[in-house]
Amino acid sequence: MQLLTGKNLTQTFTCKTKTTDMQLSSFLQRFSEPETLKMAKLGRELREKGIDVIDLSLGEPDFDTPDHIKTAAVKAIHDNWSHYSPVPGFLDLREAVCIKLKRDNNLIYKPENIVTSTGAKQSLANVLLALVDEGNEVLIPTPYWVTYSELVKIARGKVVEIHASSASGFKITPQQLEAAITDKTKLFMFSSPCNPSGAVYSKEELEALTAVFSKHPGIFILSDEIYEYINFVGNHESIAQFETIRDRVIIVNGLSKGFAMTGWRLGYIAANVNIARACEKVQGQFTSGANSITQKAAVIALTTDLRPSMEMVKEFSRRRKRVLELVNEIPGIDCSEPDGAFYIFPDVSAYYGKTDGESVISNASEFCMYLLNKAHVSSVMGDAFGEPKCVRFSFANSMEKIEEGWKRIKEVLGKLR
Ligand code: PMP
Repeated sequence: MQLLTGKNLTQTFTCKTKTTDMQLSSFLQRFSEPETLKMAKLGRELREKGIDVIDLSLGEPDFDTPDHIKTAAVKAIHDNWSHYSPVPGFLDLREAVCIKLKRDNNLIYKPENIVTSTGAKQSLANVLLALVDEGNEVLIPTPYWVTYSELVKIARGKVVEIHASSASGFKITPQQLEAAITDKTKLFMFSSPCNPSGAVYSKEELEALTAVFSKHPGIFILSDEIYEYINFVGNHESIAQFETIRDRVIIVNGLSKGFAMTGWRLGYIAANVNIARACEKVQGQFTSGANSITQKAAVIALTTDLRPSMEMVKEFSRRRKRVLELVNEIPGIDCSEPDGAFYIFPDVSAYYGKTDGESVISNASEFCMYLLNKAHVSSVMGDAFGEPKCVRFSFANSMEKIEEGWKRIKEVLGKLR
């Protein structure tokens, strides 16, 4: 069989016309590209030029998917699970999600409450498109994952940020929540553990927020729990545990982080049946059911041995300890300890206004570009997460790369005056 390569393609296809920006839809103007992916792209471009770039920008485990999950996928291929699945996912997968929710979170859901999707990102998009109308306000505590605000804009909603600083452990108070609510508020969305800050809400803190939501029955709560297993302080707590609001909570979770399965693309929601059917309707026109092989592998991931995931978390914990030692050696970087996820999100604003004689750093974006160009280390500016004083550095990279990356960062920051 002859393999058609990229080279063959350029020989056989020449594009004669160029689509102008004028011809593209106005929809594209409403939102931006993920800053995380942009930084990864810039890093890749430098790497293609032969430069040894250390990637501390991306949000994915550097581990391989556990063997028992891969074996289940191979079996699914041989068993010919190669057809379309029902839009919300195969029944055994939705049952597996219910088993997981009972086992890990003591929450009872039925398969009709579950919709599985091509990654938690699609689950989030489904929920936003299913719930948010033009002009609806969506409350998002800062810092937040880059995609949240853009999905709200896609749905024509209005982002209302609630500011949480490092001084408050990057968590909001019930008073802040109450003050942000108006008669236009439709949805509150947050992640715990949080990407990028690593903040983890305790049961008591969630209960205090729940008391506010109880007074406002028209508000839905989207709880993104994708970093559930990557928790360094104790048990994961879901806001869905509180009966008074449970019917309005949409849990979003997925296999990307906890099972090192980012490329397999599987996420899910657990929600009341009306919301689940609405998400099914949205997804039915975009992608249909998630990849059938991934779904079969996910049944095994969700219902069997969690030890490989826990081993991975132990390694993240070791790296977290080390990265905090390394960052604390650098003057001018103010870093709080993340309780979960695999990022640190330090305040680097003490460097704003400084220069190495060539470049002046006036914001987080220039700080990141300085690190990329001078230290060949990629990171993500905090503006993308709604916190312009901070920068996100991942520790989902080997200990060796982390040591080298932070050595380089320390060196180039030492040149700033
Ligand atoms: N939520 C959060 C907070 C994330 O960080 C990510 C991935 N970076 C996702 C959702 C999406 O995960 P996926 O689509 O890979 O399941």
